[in-house]
Amino acid sequence: MSIIVCSYGEIHLKGANRGFFLRTLMQNIRRSLPQNVRAEVKDTRILVTNFTESQPVVAALKKVFGLTHIRVCDSINYTTPTDILNYLTTVKVSGTFKVVVNRADKNFPVKSPIFAPQCGDVILKHNSSAKVDVQNPETIVQIEIRQNGIAFISTGCERGLGGLPVGVSGRAVCLISGGIDSPVAAFLAMKRGLVVDFVHFSTPPYTSELALQKVVSLCEKVNSYGNTGNLYVVPFTEIGSQIQKKCHDQYTITLMRRFMVALAEKIGVANGADCIFTGENLAQVASQTIQGITSNNFVAKRLPILRPLICFDKNEIIDVAKQIGTYQISILPYEDCCTVFVPTHPTIKPNLNTVLEEEKKLDFDTLVENCYNNVICKRLQNIFAESSNKPQK
Ligand code: ATP
Ligand code: MG
Repeated sequence: MSIIVCSYGEIHLKGANRGFFLRTLMQNIRRSLPQNVRAEVKDTRILVTNFTESQPVVAALKKVFGLTHIRVCDSINYTTPTDILNYLTTVKVSGTFKVVVNRADKNFPVKSPIFAPQCGDVILKHNSSAKVDVQNPETIVQIEIRQNGIAFISTGCERGLGGLPVGVSGRAVCLISGGIDSPVAAFLAMKRGLVVDFVHFSTPPYTSELALQKVVSLCEKVNSYGNTGNLYVVPFTEIGSQIQKKCHDQYTITLMRRFMVALAEKIGVANGADCIFTGENLAQVASQTIQGITSNNFVAKRLPILRPLICFDKNEIIDVAKQIGTYQISILPYEDCCTVFVPTHPTIKPNLNTVLEEEKKLDFDTLVENCYNNVICKRLQNIFAESSNKPQK
């Protein structure tokens, strides 16, 4: 019989919170799997059973934060160590390998360091191209000896995403543009256990329905890693136009960012968020100098702004975007609201006093309030269809 054995990482360290972390992990795993597939915690492993094909189940498990390793195993019954050795005559190995034995059942009569070479000898005898290499093997044959006469045997191991189960750390709102960076920022927030709601600013008619669809696709892609968040679409045309009309154009982008943060904070507070995430990256573009980035810090009064990509290289961000499947969507050529209003020469080091002077030309609070009243919550298609998460404005 085939069984999938999953290991989890940091949850081991969580002391009194371990139960909560593990329950959340199990909930996320069960939601990601087809209904008939069973998952249960056994000792320090998660055992997944009752599937016909392992490949789609492994693919789903590889998208669950908190799992570190995923192994498809043969589950065999044994009475004596010889039964396991007999089974190993059927295992196919080519190239270099080593055998790792874990003896969870301490009553098993042969100790692991003695049993592993015995297993290796059997494999060598039945696989002419196999060679032992304990330093750098191509294949690890893992033999886990469990209680009650059961052993799990695997010849391959897939890496899980690691991190923490989505939901154990609280909630975030992430400012999401249609670009490469912000979906990666949302993914990293989830990696540390946050449920992420997305906030997107659109400026119709300057930005199209297709541009918005692209953002929906990005959010759904990010959500497929176990997120249950919603997308809040903020109609930003009036604010953008007012800034353009009344303020010095060098400050357009800085002022737009301040309004974005104010609105994201308002949406976040209404939806129980603990923090704001952005995809800002130091010195990537003119508006993301340290002065440009920090000039919106003081707008948010109740939620901290976290910027997980701040010190990444663009190529490192792109690598993650490709790995999680957002890159191909992000590079679709649709306009972003910032590109519509951004001047050719934004100020590189905005002085906060000047920014505040410029901002005084606008009725900040009224513009925010009016804009907030028109925010739309867009339902996203989640793999977690049974989510109990109720959207609020
Ligand atoms: P990205 O790939 O995230 O678009 P970028 O290099 O294009 O990155 P900017 O356009 O300067 O970055 O935006 C910086 C950050 O501001 C984004 O990562 C995102 O968090 C936020 N942001 C920018 N435009 C929008 C928007 N239209 N809606 C929501 N958030 C936005
Ligand atoms: Mg952008």
